Amino acid sequence: MSIEKNNDSEIRVVHNWIDGELCKSNSERFGSVTDSATGEQCASVVMSLEEDVKAAIKSSAAAFESWSRTPVLRRAKVMFKLKELIERDRKEIAEIITQEHGKVLDDADGSIQRGLEVVEFACGIPHLIKGEYNDQVGTGVDTYSMRQPMGVCVGITPFNFPAMVPLWMFPMAIACGNTFILKPSEKDPTCAIKWAELLKEAGLPDGVFNVIQGDHVAVNSLLNDAEVAAVSFVGSTPVAEHVYKTASEKGKRVQALGGAKNHLVVMPDADMEQVADALMGAGYGSAGERCMAISAVVTVGDSTDALLEKLLPKIASLKIGPGTDNNNHMGPLITAEHKDKVRSYIDLGESEGASLLVDGRTHDITNSPGYFLGPTLFDNVTKEMRVYQEEIFGPVLTITRVDDFDEAVEIINDHQFGNGTAIFTRDGDAAREFSHKILVGMVGVNVPIPVPLAFHSFGGWKRSLFGCNGVYGMEGVRFYTRLKTVTSRWPTGIRSGAEFSMPTM
Ligand code: NAD
Repeated sequence: MSIEKNNDSEIRVVHNWIDGELCKSNSERFGSVTDSATGEQCASVVMSLEEDVKAAIKSSAAAFESWSRTPVLRRAKVMFKLKELIERDRKEIAEIITQEHGKVLDDADGSIQRGLEVVEFACGIPHLIKGEYNDQVGTGVDTYSMRQPMGVCVGITPFNFPAMVPLWMFPMAIACGNTFILKPSEKDPTCAIKWAELLKEAGLPDGVFNVIQGDHVAVNSLLNDAEVAAVSFVGSTPVAEHVYKTASEKGKRVQALGGAKNHLVVMPDADMEQVADALMGAGYGSAGERCMAISAVVTVGDSTDALLEKLLPKIASLKIGPGTDNNNHMGPLITAEHKDKVRSYIDLGESEGASLLVDGRTHDITNSPGYFLGPTLFDNVTKEMRVYQEEIFGPVLTITRVDDFDEAVEIINDHQFGNGTAIFTRDGDAAREFSHKILVGMVGVNVPIPVPLAFHSFGGWKRSLFGCNGVYGMEGVRFYTRLKTVTSRWPTGIRSGAEFSMPTM
């Protein structure tokens, strides 16, 4: 990768990418990118200025003119080539993710796979973007519709999936004929440059994909620029609301995906071994830093003891350590600040009166360098507690006991978030009723992390998504295009001369 080192400090600097090349900023602000497993700085990232954002937007706006007119088959060819290049380099990309984010290599590779599937979906853009045609809607009159690109699109992404979440966005946007500016998380910014390099190698013209590094300064400049037509955001709910409000007020199309608190309902008839395995992966995998992680377990009736009997030994044998070792199940958290935040939620849960069954603060791994915490499990968590209400985004599972199915549905439906949820049961009727009644965007039946595949779409409800479209799948095509409908009549149709009455079909 062509990321330059700063000669004085030997620290790698991650720059912007504008007009097909790395582009230095005049900014004097830099962020520190750390290896979460060691706590050592591994790179420094530029915090872009408004002038950098302007340069990226100018480049994207200029490139839009010809890219939007490029035949759709040629746009698809770039996606086919990109797919090949990601497959070639996926080991290197997984290593970048593991170093900057901390997740275990196999898990990082899995996240690349889920992003790659969106590239594969985008290869089918000639078919996906087809319009509709009606012959003879009136005498001699035909109507057809087409989907046209929006213009300059922006993607603002979170730290927890530096590969997958950008890949949810830019392949669809670019295949639809837009130009795209990616503003990745400043905590793990290197993958974004890798996407830029691979797209260039895949034959994408300069300016169609640009990268702006930085923080809220860069984001706010992007949101306020009149040239930007559409904004995709994924991150925490307070920022999602800010992005949604600011960009919508400027007349832009916005999809802003926010935080989550995903519930897993355990019915008394569930296979507890299966539930415990599901909770281990969905609660503690990626150190709980997944928007679809299960964080709230809802045990129905007398299911709690049977579950704990299976779950507690599994928690005790969880392997925690650097993500570079695939034998580990869980790596570190992203930063020291985030680790402190998760610890403070464990303190809070204790003070709110929840029963602390497993305390991640005292796990041996916390003595290692890096931002490690052990797994935590709370029982007897009530719906009033903040540890239940708020997103913790770490390896902390809470158990809330309810009397029956209806109460389980009710507390989930009352929760502020509605990203994902799951029910574990052997009863088809309970599962079906749950899927119908639950006010959540993505539902799993005996599937703990029901992330839809690329040909469906991803998106939550309530305070987990602001805007009306989910990401990728046909929702992605709709979001990154606007509908135009043409009604036409050819001159032979007006041979009889002018008509003065209101045309009716
Ligand atoms: P974050 O909201 O802190 O940051 C997301 C992006 O917004 C980053 O690029 C960041 O630079 C930018 N940003 C941060 N503060 C800003 C501000 N004040 N003004 C403008 N821009 C700002 O989120 P994060 O900590 O990087 O990621 C974790 C969060 O993302 C969790 O809440 C998680 O649930 C959520 N997430 C949601 C989904 C989903 O699909 N719903 C997917 C992944 C992550």
